[in-house]
Amino acid sequence: MTFASVVPETRSQLPRDAYTYSIPEDLAELVLPGVRVEIPFGKRSILGYVVERSEETEFAEVRAIDRVIDEPRLILDHHLTLARQIADRYCAPLGEVLRAMLPKGVRTRPSRRAGPRSVSRAVAEAGAAGPPEPPPVLNDAQRAAVAPLLESIAAHTHRRLLLHGVTGSGKTEVYLAGIDAALAAGRGAIVLVPEIALTPQMIRRFTVRFPGRIAVVHSALTDAERAAEWRHIRSGAHSVVIGSRSAVFAPVADLGIVVVDEEDAPAYKQDRVPRYHAVDVALMLGALCDAPVVMGSATPRVESFFRAHTGDLELATLPERVSGRPLPPIEVVDLRDELKAGNTNALSPTLDRALQECHAEGGQSILFLNRRGTSTVVLCRTCGEALTCTNCSVSLVHHVDRASCDCHYCGLSIPLPSACPSCGSRTIRALGMGTERLEREVRERFPALRLIRMDRDTTRSRDAYFDIYDRFRRHEADCLIGTQMVAKGWDLGNVRLVGIVNADTSLHFPDYRSGELTFSLLTQVAGRAGRGDEPARVVLQTYSPGHYAVRHATTHDYLGFARDEIRVRKALRFPPYARLCVCTFVHKDDHEAEIEVRREARRVSDTLGIGAGLDVLGPTPAFLHRLRGEYRWQITVRGTNIERAFPHLPRARGWSIDVDPGA
Ligand code: ADP
Ligand code: ZN
Ligand code: ZN
Repeated sequence: MTFASVVPETRSQLPRDAYTYSIPEDLAELVLPGVRVEIPFGKRSILGYVVERSEETEFAEVRAIDRVIDEPRLILDHHLTLARQIADRYCAPLGEVLRAMLPKGVRTRPSRRAGPRSVSRAVAEAGAAGPPEPPPVLNDAQRAAVAPLLESIAAHTHRRLLLHGVTGSGKTEVYLAGIDAALAAGRGAIVLVPEIALTPQMIRRFTVRFPGRIAVVHSALTDAERAAEWRHIRSGAHSVVIGSRSAVFAPVADLGIVVVDEEDAPAYKQDRVPRYHAVDVALMLGALCDAPVVMGSATPRVESFFRAHTGDLELATLPERVSGRPLPPIEVVDLRDELKAGNTNALSPTLDRALQECHAEGGQSILFLNRRGTSTVVLCRTCGEALTCTNCSVSLVHHVDRASCDCHYCGLSIPLPSACPSCGSRTIRALGMGTERLEREVRERFPALRLIRMDRDTTRSRDAYFDIYDRFRRHEADCLIGTQMVAKGWDLGNVRLVGIVNADTSLHFPDYRSGELTFSLLTQVAGRAGRGDEPARVVLQTYSPGHYAVRHATTHDYLGFARDEIRVRKALRFPPYARLCVCTFVHKDDHEAEIEVRREARRVSDTLGIGAGLDVLGPTPAFLHRLRGEYRWQITVRGTNIERAFPHLPRARGWSIDVDPGA
């Protein structure tokens, strides 16, 4: 008798990951690891994934598999191993991981029809772009970066490279050279980008370089299109997959290289179960496939930079722009001085004048305002200090409904003060101005300016993002107002002014990474200027010119920033010096939620005991305390060997677990 270990495909919480079934004689050849089968489960009949076969079982009575659903098998061998590693690392049910690996359209109904061939707009345009272009001759720094990739591919060994290079330093050419080598060796490639919609130019370059071999996987695809793309990749028709987060699971059979662009992007963290981080999954994948992984960024996470220094990652640096053109200088406007001078407009006189000059000369401008988190932080307009936690030095979250200011991590809670704790001034209030109001203000001030706005509200439809981008590129608008959507990847020669309307919004996000996020955003958005032949300016407005993240961004000093940031992380025991795991409880009654988390916090900390090297922080209301009529509370477990806490974390209904929480 042969048995199979089957992971039920169900969303309900089960006590175990896998269950044992016997394999009927007539299915003996078909029930292989990676296929889906129909199984009796309780009184129902459900689907499940076969993950293992064995010749014996400890159970006296087992039920039999009913039938096999998919042929060929859905899940490749190395993906089964990968799924187990992800389940272990993120404390997630194996069934949920397997589910997340497969597009919905593939899981639901094996369709007979060949799916409309999905081609994203950028790819379609690039397809018409003409003959492939020969690659440029790489410069010395690029060659040094490519070398370990080529060695790794030739030797069929896993290596991991952090590629640190400013915007325009030629990172993409390094990726392309690595992929070229993988393809020449008859192997495939996966290229991860934070958000596919934000990278039209990059996709164009890939398609021109590798015509007919590119598959683009993005969130705007329908289920059917996604399934069709998946089958194409599975059949080997496309060997280079470009996509966002979930593309790390693309069924490329013989993977020769994994590329992660902008490895610091928060979008790589999945915010639903399984809450994996795609960069860590990419590293696991590369190890399983004996392939190199290259992670590139102008502003790597300090965790990654730290790993490069401890030898866990190799480091390659591209110190200069290929063009030799310097990064644009950044002028700082101190908003505290503006307030003192009685100026409460969104645009300071400096930025106002810069806009006038830019447009008088026929240039285009970008005004950047990150709306995220704006109304949750309490800021003193006189000294520029935000209300912060005395334990964790992250900004306190102002919960209007509770009339309190709470620490997102340790649970410190204070009433909203009427005066600034550091300078005593009464100019203390919630920070808040969105892109919409900014647009109105700029329109009133400059009626002749052709304005265009890009944020989540104006890009709801599938093609809206490309439309706005194209209109701006064709100079049908003079000034683009936008959120972090406009910060990334664009290479537009006529942008001669970037105005950062308030550099501080992300600085006060209640997250230990807010400094890093801010440095990265400011660097990215400043990098949109000065790509053409005309000189360009960046004007940065801030209440916190002295904050290390802002200060180092204004001088384009990544190393200076990383040094300061790592010191803060060490002092406060945040990653990379410890790992975090956030357990969140959701309930319709705020008071009951609080009682439950308090009980669980005590139980977890009693169970773990003192001296285990693990702290239990909180409980505290979650950042989004009230959401869709429910209340959310959380506790945070912190430690170097956080896995030790996993068996003891709360699992009851209403609880969720997030290991290595994202921004
Ligand atoms: P990054 O990815 O770091 O922003 P890119 O790879 O996009 O940089 O390079 C910036 C520009 O320089 C691109 O237009 C690219 O085609 C060009 N480029 C890159 N490397 C070279 C090279 N070795 N010789 C000539 N041009 C190059
Ligand atoms: Zn103050
Ligand atoms: Zn705190």
